[in-house]
Amino acid sequence: MPHTPTRTAVGIVGAGPAGLMLSHLLARAGIDSVVVDHRTRAEIEGTSRAGILEADSARLLTDTGVSDRVHREGRPHDGIELRFGGESHRVDFRALVGESVWLYPQTDVFIDLADARARDGGDVRFGVSDTQVVDLTGERPGILYSDADGVAREIRCDILVGADGSRGVCRSAVPEAERTHFFREYPYAWFGVLVEAPPSAPELVYTHSERGFALISQRTESVQRMYFQCDPDEDPALWPDDRIWAELQERVRGSDGFTLKEGPVTDRSVLRFRSFVCEPMRYGSMLLAGDAAHTVPPTGAKGLNLALADVRLLAEALEQALTKGDRGALDAYGPRALHRVWRAQHFSYWMTTMLHRAPGATDFDVRRQLGELAAVVDSTAGSTYLAEAYTGWSEGRRAGRSERRVQDAWQ
Ligand SMILES: Cc1cc2nc3c(=O)[nH]c(=O)nc-3n(C[C@H](O)[C@H](O)[C@H](O)COP(=O)(O)OP(=O)(O)OC[C@H]3O[C@@H](n4cnc5c(N)ncnc54)[C@H](O)[C@@H]3O)c2cc1C
Repeated sequence: MPHTPTRTAVGIVGAGPAGLMLSHLLARAGIDSVVVDHRTRAEIEGTSRAGILEADSARLLTDTGVSDRVHREGRPHDGIELRFGGESHRVDFRALVGESVWLYPQTDVFIDLADARARDGGDVRFGVSDTQVVDLTGERPGILYSDADGVAREIRCDILVGADGSRGVCRSAVPEAERTHFFREYPYAWFGVLVEAPPSAPELVYTHSERGFALISQRTESVQRMYFQCDPDEDPALWPDDRIWAELQERVRGSDGFTLKEGPVTDRSVLRFRSFVCEPMRYGSMLLAGDAAHTVPPTGAKGLNLALADVRLLAEALEQALTKGDRGALDAYGPRALHRVWRAQHFSYWMTTMLHRAPGATDFDVRRQLGELAAVVDSTAGSTYLAEAYTGWSEGRRAGRSERRVQDAWQ
């Protein structure tokens, strides 16, 4: 016997940060939603991803009642080190723009959001399969899926949100003629490791070296996350612990004697990355949010933060549309979100190309990068640009001219 479809106001595909935060914000506005995800909660919790929250992202978690754990267990970072020519140069965010970022892993963001949805009676269905989205241009779009027991299920909603990440089904359900993809592939990837060792530095160290980029990042007092630039086809199995440490130590080596504190490598993987934007972010009754609509290289620590920034705007638009009948708010969502997305694309691209060594780079290319890095750290204007972008163009600061234009067009 077919099951009666579940009715809800907003059907959400994807229980990542975008999907769960959206469901939480909608519940606060009195709007029902159902979220489905094809991974189990344990699988999502076990995936190591982003680690840096902008100040506004941390505030979104605390001020909307998700959890204040970020302030109890996360660590504020008031700056980063840019390391080049074998020396470190600190960019002091607090002194330059009066903001910090928070070291708080995406896993913890996910746990906080999933716990908050469970606490508040939210309907989140993990471990589904065969997800399809249908009737996207109709009044009652739907999500079809099989539940954990293999039983076919259906959700019908007023608005459908694709928050299903960069490889989800929602974006590809939009006819090709109705979407434009903006795309940049990079000729390098990151070799990422989790290591059991004490921190080697109090803040993130972004390193430019003759051998390529490295990032020294932290997790806890006893677990650290580090990355080094590698070939996209690199095989992690060919990298025993000794080889990884030798490569990392070589990349950070310098006249100041900085060295990394070593320990067993517990996880290693190659992370390919690219810059990607899909426009528009709306098709009929479906809207896209987070990685489903755009991805950035991780160098600027923007992916997770963009996902949260999208759904903050999307929750406002859905509230306008569903409680005040203002469907125009749904049209305005994409342009408002894309304003930040493209600034973040530029920042992530800039950080990536300034710090990585492209295959075939000439001496001129490397010297030019060093000149660019010196221009950033030697100039208050240069450092301030980096600090503003890294901390996320905080809401607390005055909106810029181009941002005001987008907002005015919406109001
Ligand atoms: C390995 C890795 C490392 C990263 N490191 C960083 C970093 O250091 N800094 C940074 O800022 N960003 C980083 N990112 C990017 C950041 O993690 C993402 O930008 C962020 O997760 C986006 O959140 P989201 O909710 O939009 O998408 P996701 O977190 O991808 O969530 C999408 C959800 O949709 C679900 N889903 C997908 N397809 C379906 C389907 N067909 N049916 C049902 N559910 C589906 C998935 O299971 C997933 O849970 C990294 C990403 C990866 C992959």
